Parts: sequence; structure tokens; C-alpha cells
Amino acid sequence: CGIVGYIGHRDAYPVIMKGLQRLEYRGYDSAGIALYDGNEINLSKTKGKVADLHKKSQSTISLKGSLGLGHTRWATHGEPNDVNSHPHYSNSGNLVMIHNGIIENYDAIKKELLKRGYTFSSDTDTEVLVNLIEEIKNKENVKLGQAVQIALNEVVGAYAIAVFDKQKPDEIVVAKLGSPLAIGLGEGEFFIASDASPFIEYTNNAIYLEDMEMAIIRLGKEIKLRKIKDDAVA
Ligand code: GLU
Repeated sequence: CGIVGYIGHRDAYPVIMKGLQRLEYRGYDSAGIALYDGNEINLSKTKGKVADLHKKSQSTISLKGSLGLGHTRWATHGEPNDVNSHPHYSNSGNLVMIHNGIIENYDAIKKELLKRGYTFSSDTDTEVLVNLIEEIKNKENVKLGQAVQIALNEVVGAYAIAVFDKQKPDEIVVAKLGSPLAIGLGEGEFFIASDASPFIEYTNNAIYLEDMEMAIIRLGKEIKLRKIKDDAVA
């Protein structure tokens, strides 16, 4: 399992696909990519290899966009199939997320969200988390970064996540506990990956998140690092 993300001025698709290929050694059963084309998110996912994802994406989605997330999945919750592959949308279709790891208490959270009218198209723990983030964002009327932080304080498990909101496409929020997550800092661009291999030819400047740390990555801004367990939300 591996994650790759890009926000900047290049075409995100080749950066992400090449990155996913470099993370193939981590092992996986499916792969997927979400690209923001300036208007809509285009999503492509498939059971199988990164090469299968490339074949499928070329013929089914627009590959345009300088913001995107890619994932290779090692299924823990829900069989390996196209629907359970990442990225996953929130119910509004605005948030899109990739996740490596396990949300142990996803079932209790899912029951609560179902009561509030949320629906789920996959069997994954990940789709539960992205909808919990959306619920908090709307209910508490907070920014994405704060919603992620509050949600992760309700979660038991392990994760490296990356999420963005298509209504605010200059920003990616990432967080880590247990699974690795590196951020590459370029000139007017940022890379996200499970290790530095996907962005090594673009920049030597990297931040490795610590456990229970998150980052708000915004184009044209300094990265904001935060502890997930912060007094502000404790
Ligand atoms: N638990 C998630 C799933 O089953 C993520 C698995 C992974 O780390 O790839 O979809």
C-alpha cells in the first residue's frame, strides 16, 4: 500500500502514476487516482496493478489537472475490487481521500453516520472516515484542517491520509499515525508520498511527518504542521 499526492503547476497525472509505480514494492491489490481538472474531480480506480490503472484511466477519464491523489491498496476492510479501491468521496462529492492503515472503530462511527442519513458505496473503513470529516466540517462549521483534526481525535487505528476539498482546490490536508508520510517541498509545488522515492527527482527538501502529526499544505503558503492531539480540540 502506498500514497502519492501532488499540488502545483505540473500535470499531476504522470507525477502520481510514476510515484505509484515506485511504491509498488510495498505490495497492493488495487490502485486508484483522483484528479481535479479545475472544475471537477475525475476518479479512476481498479483492482489490479498500476499498469492496469493507467490503461483504464487513459480511456475513461480526463487526465488534466495539477492537483491529485493516488493510492495503492492492501485491502483490510472490504474485498479487493474497483469500488473498494481508493480514493473515496464524501457524500457531497466535495471531499476526496486516500488512506493507508486501519480505522478500528469504523463500525461504531458508520452506524452513527447512517443514522444521520449518510450512505456508503464501499465496505471500507476509509469511506467512513472521509464522511466523518465531512459531517464535522459541516456541523461545526470549521475548515478542512480543523475537521480532520477533530475527526482523528475520534478515531482509533493507524493511518496515513491525504484529503482535499474540490471547493478549495489550493489545499491538501495530510495526517499520520503508524503509516509513513513524507512531504516534498518544491518551488510552488508540493509532493506527498509514503516515502521520498516518488518525488526524489523534483526536490531534496522533504518533511517526514511524525506520528500524531498533521499538515495543512496550501499553495503559496508555508506548510502548517500541527499535533493531532492539541489542547484546542482536546
Ligand atoms: N483499510 C483501508 C482499506 O481497506 C486501507 C488499506 C490500505 O492500507 O491500503 O481500504
